[in-house]
Amino acid sequence: MDDIIIVGSGPAGISASLYIKRAGLSVKVIGKDGGSLEKADKIQNYFGLEKALSGSELIQIGIKQAKELGVEIITEEVLDISYADEGFEVSVKSDTYKASAVLLATGAARKAPRIEGLVQFEGMGVSYCAVCDGFFYRGKEVAVLGSSEYALHEVKELLPIASKVSVLTNGVEPDADFPAGVEVYKAKISKLFGAEVLEGAQFSDGAALRFNGLFIAVGSAAAGDLARKLGANVVDNKISVNADMETNIPGLYAAGDCTGGIMQVSTAVAEGARAALSAIDYVRKKKKSK
Ligand SMILES: Cc1cc2nc3c(=O)[nH]c(=O)nc-3n(C[C@H](O)[C@H](O)[C@H](O)COP(=O)(O)OP(=O)(O)OC[C@H]3O[C@@H](n4cnc5c(N)ncnc54)[C@H](O)[C@@H]3O)c2cc1C
Repeated sequence: MDDIIIVGSGPAGISASLYIKRAGLSVKVIGKDGGSLEKADKIQNYFGLEKALSGSELIQIGIKQAKELGVEIITEEVLDISYADEGFEVSVKSDTYKASAVLLATGAARKAPRIEGLVQFEGMGVSYCAVCDGFFYRGKEVAVLGSSEYALHEVKELLPIASKVSVLTNGVEPDADFPAGVEVYKAKISKLFGAEVLEGAQFSDGAALRFNGLFIAVGSAAAGDLARKLGANVVDNKISVNADMETNIPGLYAAGDCTGGIMQVSTAVAEGARAALSAIDYVRKKKKSK
């Protein structure tokens, strides 16, 4: 069991890891790729750069610095975070890691796909969290919108509860192996329909599928998805934190673009540092009270 697990290896996560490691606590960083910075052509507005660097050059320097300090960095996609004895359990495809505290630094929330009716039926059949809302659909037919490992994870959460689970990939070729008995619909969705609550989806080829609940799991689990599973407050897909980067859940912190704000490298680095100091304090107090 580690003291702290950081989800996300962008500027916020890597900055936090430096403070935690230097404080003598054990820390793991789990990140799936280079995040937003990988898309940035040139960074010219960050302190101390002699010449402009590409985003991927900047993040590689940060990762090298953390590794040289002894921070363990795991390249994996986090699919779930749940409560465990004395802390949290963080699941990747074929492993789980435990820690006393977790820091979410997964960057800006991805945008929900633009499908007619999706926003209209949020909370009226459209959900972003199987573990939170699956119970409302016990014995009913549901669908998962997505095509990847994260969609598969949500399917597995729903199978023991719902009478039927389908997968809607919305025109994308699935890249996860969905279990037998789960029908995969690959057609593009033209709209979601229903009178007061969601009743199903209409496809662009004119066919329709009826179901009671649709769980959105497109791409990877974003920080908001992971935070919601633990009961943390998320507003407009941004994790709510106080000035110390604490969420409303003890031991759960968030930093960087996933909390909103001006979404810059400088703020991500600063928030990562602040969150790390709060998490270090939390873990030390927890150890003392034992
Ligand atoms: C095109 C572009 C240009 C930009 N230009 C500038 C600029 O010039 N100056 C500037 O200051 N800022 C710029 N930014 C913004 C800057 O990149 C971000 O503000 C900054 O990277 C945020 O850091 P972060 O650590 O919060 O998130 P990110 O850098 O996005 O890192 C998120 C991390 O979380 C990981 N992750 C996400 N989901 C999961 C999951 N489920 N499991 C495991 N890991 C996960 C990702 O792999 C990544 O490691 C630009 C952004 C873009 C897109």
